[in-house]
Amino acid sequence: MGKLKFERPVITRINAGVPDKFGMGTAIQPIGYIDDVAVEDLLADYGSPLFVISERTIREVYQEALSAFKTRYPKVQFAWSYKTNYLNAVCKVYHQEGSWAEVVSGFEFEKALANGVPGGKIIFNGPDKTEADLRKAIEHGALIHIDHFDELYEIMRLAPELGQTAKVAVRINMDTGIYPRWDRFGFNYENGEAWAAINKIMPAPNLELVGLHTHIGTYIMTPNAYAIATEKLAALVVRIERKYKHPIKYLDLGGGFASKNTLKGAYLPGSDTCPSFDDYAEAVTETLINSDIQYEQMPALFLETGRALIDEAGYLLGTVLANKRLADGRRSLVIDIGVNNLFTSFWYNHHIVPARMNQRDTEDTTIYGPLCMNIDVIREAVMFPVLEKGDPVVIKRVGAYNMTQWLQFITYRPKVVLIDMNGQPHIIRENETLETMNALDRMPGHLNDIQL
Ligand SMILES: *Cc1c(COP(=O)(O)O)cnc(C)c1O
Repeated sequence: MGKLKFERPVITRINAGVPDKFGMGTAIQPIGYIDDVAVEDLLADYGSPLFVISERTIREVYQEALSAFKTRYPKVQFAWSYKTNYLNAVCKVYHQEGSWAEVVSGFEFEKALANGVPGGKIIFNGPDKTEADLRKAIEHGALIHIDHFDELYEIMRLAPELGQTAKVAVRINMDTGIYPRWDRFGFNYENGEAWAAINKIMPAPNLELVGLHTHIGTYIMTPNAYAIATEKLAALVVRIERKYKHPIKYLDLGGGFASKNTLKGAYLPGSDTCPSFDDYAEAVTETLINSDIQYEQMPALFLETGRALIDEAGYLLGTVLANKRLADGRRSLVIDIGVNNLFTSFWYNHHIVPARMNQRDTEDTTIYGPLCMNIDVIREAVMFPVLEKGDPVVIKRVGAYNMTQWLQFITYRPKVVLIDMNGQPHIIRENETLETMNALDRMPGHLNDIQL
């Protein structure tokens, strides 16, 4: 028998909860399988850390959201928010489900076209559309959501030059009771700018006003904010009809529904407190149906939901590197998942659990990533079982924004695997290597040789 491991005992203050005779019992449900594929097999086959996406969850959550809206309002169209997760395979799952594309840059616009989305089904948002982007968008018949007057004037110049009609919508920011108010995108509702923009678009011969758009913020916990937004957009539809006899084809309520993640500082878990798709859908559709818009001219309802659709489908698997005691005796765990790969750890207390439970005892633990950076903290304090080097861990709900905002920093970015509807894993993005990292570097000739 090998020598047993000894760890010097420490006495720590118990800060919360009531211990029983076995200590602090915290119910922790390990995650050993994702869609019936063993976490340990995934790590062995594809390396650690590893992003895993469940195609089944993507499709199920999408259908849940779609039916919440469709059962209340007949004309509903989702457009996948590319910046939330633009891995091509992920985008294609949404496009197979019938979702259009919502993009916020020339790069994302090109990506959507390359993924086979017809120009007329691409919504082009964002403050940064170059002249070349606008030309391309007009030529492809994309839905251009105008952000500011400079962009409006540029479209007014380009559309006649191209001999085409630009299909445009105005992005509108407004007070919906959510603070801080997002007033930097689009035209303001309350101060009349949105109405002024509409009055410039309507007489312009090569511009067709097809929609009105707002994106009131992100992780919005109050469905009523969407009711207010819908009411304000509906009022503009009525006003446009009265002045120009021009029906608006769609109202786009943007994204912003909360996912089930828990914000830092929240008292209760997000899975208990976040509104459901039904709550949001009820707020929007009820307001729309009861608005003064003429019955025959009821617009289609567009949604650009991002995080609430994809967060749930994403997992980040990793491995314990070391166990440590901090100076004050607290337990800490070092894992191979850093904040460079888990950007959202700055906002969320991510749900992290072991893939298997070796024992029931838990201890207040700080979980660090592998970076040589003091800010690399995955969880400041979480009741966690004592794990050993090499033990697998799983972080839940990481599908949104991490695979787009991840940073190449200190280590290579990992592989991403999609588990298909039959439980078959597929690599949908390779890990970086020294070759991929060096591919964009260039070496001036005089630096080729070094003599050490
Ligand atoms: C980011 C973004 C979205 C998606 O937002 P979520 O909060 O992830 O739902 C939708 N529309 C626009 C214009 C955006 O910028």
